Amino acid sequence: MQALRDKARRADENDPLASYRNQFLFPETEGTECAYFTGNSLGLQPVTAKQSLLDELEDWGKYGVEGHFRARNPWVSYHELLMAPAAEIVGAREKEVVHMNGLTANIHFLMVSFYRPAGKRFKILCEEKAFPSDQYALASQVKFHGYDPADAIIEIGPREGEHCLREEDIESKIAEHADEIALVFIGGVNYYTGQWFDMERITRAGKAAGAVVGWDLAHAAGNVPLKLHDWDVDFAAWCTYKYLNSGPGSVSGIFVHEKHARNFDLPRFAGWWGHDKEARFLMEPGFRPLEGAEGWQLSNAPVFSMAPHLASLRIFAEAGMEALRKKSLALTAFLQEVTEAAARETGADLEIITPEAPDRRGCQLSIFAHGHGKELFNHLTDHGVFTDWREPNVIRAAPVPLYNSFSDVLRFGTVLRGGLEKETVERAEGSR
Ligand SMILES: *Cc1c(COP(=O)(O)O)cnc(C)c1O
Repeated sequence: MQALRDKARRADENDPLASYRNQFLFPETEGTECAYFTGNSLGLQPVTAKQSLLDELEDWGKYGVEGHFRARNPWVSYHELLMAPAAEIVGAREKEVVHMNGLTANIHFLMVSFYRPAGKRFKILCEEKAFPSDQYALASQVKFHGYDPADAIIEIGPREGEHCLREEDIESKIAEHADEIALVFIGGVNYYTGQWFDMERITRAGKAAGAVVGWDLAHAAGNVPLKLHDWDVDFAAWCTYKYLNSGPGSVSGIFVHEKHARNFDLPRFAGWWGHDKEARFLMEPGFRPLEGAEGWQLSNAPVFSMAPHLASLRIFAEAGMEALRKKSLALTAFLQEVTEAAARETGADLEIITPEAPDRRGCQLSIFAHGHGKELFNHLTDHGVFTDWREPNVIRAAPVPLYNSFSDVLRFGTVLRGGLEKETVERAEGSR
């Protein structure tokens, strides 16, 4: 225990990103700052988010409608401020990224363009137990095109006795259905297991089969290094309120590969914000889409949700994904170490179902607590350690390199061990 304590202290002392913690607001339980491991669900508020939002409220008050052109950050082009820093995070060219709507809405809008079933090729390949919203989106899209989800959706699951998918199994499934798959659509990092797929390899396999390949990056954007452009991904979408710390329900980001930038023949559900900027206010009939991702926009920009996102993107730009990833690898390895130590010392059966290989996971670990119920999770919460619980008995914990410290992780381990010990004692007393 002392060894872990020393290790945490040394790691925090030598952490070049340690000061970023002060740029975020931490919830408290009974006057004590919590150890926050739920940045995979809702990222913490950057201190600068408030001013960023207040600036826009102030300019609205000061200029009214003229704020579209006279605000410090004119609203007519506000979305453009987000393009370059977000492109940096997902490995894209600036023109390949834009922000609009919510994530699930964007999956639908992008599928209008990129799920184009025809003849024998009408199926979608996705992962088993995808995030429910994605399952509903995919099923409703295939129904919209007149197919039965039972035929049109191919789900790929783990092998018997395993929790994660194997890339070679995904490849062979794609090959097996090569002439039937219209779209491969998977979550880049699985929300439940924390598995980060080899996106480049799966994208290559999908394209080789003649399919379009899209990714849901809700758990990947801001968490793992991405190279969407180089990997030749067709399209992707993500939310900005998880690892990107932009507040509840904040605006979603999309990626459309440059090679589709001028493909104006793709079907799309259009709106005026996707229309040629020069001619937008002429209000003439006839939709002329903008080049690149911007051409998929519908409505004018939701500035009040973009303002906190802009504040957050500035922090990412300063810290840099490379440095964040480096710390993330060390933090998550330490989380694994303290979890395994707690299990060993108490004789508990804790199974980490997230892949062991660092390049196959982001910061989240999903811990299957065999023989334990929700009391263990409640014990963590009651002691100010925020994690989340997924049925049947999985605790998900995500140490975020921007604001979590090695001491936070140590605290997780200490409280976890306390919870396991308590249950062992209670059980022993119960069986007496
Ligand atoms: C968080 C998450 C969502 C949430 O969708 P919203 O439209 O933002 O409510 C969808 N899909 C995945 C994979 C997620 O992790």
